Amino acid sequence: AKERGKGCVALYEPALHEQALQELQLRSDLARALEEDQLVVHFQPTIDLATGVVAGFEALVRWQHPTRGLLGPVHFIPTAERTGLIVPLGRWVLREACRAAATFQTPTRRVTISVNVAAAQLTSEGFGDEVVAALRDSGLPPSCLLLEITESMLLGDLELIRSRLEVLRRLDVRIAIDDFGTGFSSLAYLRRLPVDVVKVDKSFVDHVTDDDHDASLTRSIIAMSQSLNLATIAEGVEHLGQAEWLRATSCRFGQGFLWSRPVPLDQARALLAVAGPL
Ligand code: C2E
Ligand code: CA
Ligand code: CA
Ligand code: CA
Repeated sequence: AKERGKGCVALYEPALHEQALQELQLRSDLARALEEDQLVVHFQPTIDLATGVVAGFEALVRWQHPTRGLLGPVHFIPTAERTGLIVPLGRWVLREACRAAATFQTPTRRVTISVNVAAAQLTSEGFGDEVVAALRDSGLPPSCLLLEITESMLLGDLELIRSRLEVLRRLDVRIAIDDFGTGFSSLAYLRRLPVDVVKVDKSFVDHVTDDDHDASLTRSIIAMSQSLNLATIAEGVEHLGQAEWLRATSCRFGQGFLWSRPVPLDQARALLAVAGPL
């Protein structure tokens, strides 16, 4: 019933109907998943490129589905965003991530936790209060929390977003621009928003060692970030050559399968316990 093409108008409707039903089904399954604790947070380390030591983790949500197995975010985050469920889902991830990260801290070691924040979540009424509550209930120092916002969400109400970010900044929470370089006016955002960290998109990192053009662009992003006093995290690092290039180019942090995939909490703890470079 999913055939496409001219003159198939009659076939479109059932297909659309089916899609709508699937979305409704997914929405109610996801709502139940939230209630019944089927969601889990995995942790992927970010590495200090100068020392090779774990500097922090990014919290990445998964769904331990009762019949379909462990589902990655691509299978449910888009539906969560379309249906508004992203707000309670994001709140849950934030609380879990802060709670875990609080246990990572020691008197001599600060470990950053990055949490992805969707547009609807950031602009929702109670977001500031939710962050305050998550920090208070977990005991995590605010400066250990790094909230990642993507460039694409900045297409919304930029003034509202800016004022929300200012509030978070005043709490001493830090802000990262995720997937940097993939949007249209990345540079303008850096000037207008209170940002601490730039995450260089994987699509640049992929080719730094074999494409002069991407290498130049990445070098420029890193240099510009540095001149604005922003830290850089390169995402999607898979090969040693990339890590070496990034380090030589003064990129501060790296994240990628080269060091570790996102892993469950107990494995994250084990990564943290490694004394030297990962
Ligand atoms: P993202 O924020 O860009 O997260 C990085 C994604 O790249 C993760 O995919 C991670 O597993 C993957 N990755 C990391 N290193 C490598 C690498 O070396 N190679 C490759 N090929 N991939 C790598 P994941 O976990 O599937 O998450 C996908 C996206 O889902 C995230 O992209 C983020 O936009 C979204 N997401 C995940 N968790 C949350 C959440 O709690 N809230 C919201 N709003 N979005 C989330
Ligand atoms: Ca992210
Ligand atoms: Ca990213
Ligand atoms: Ca990306």
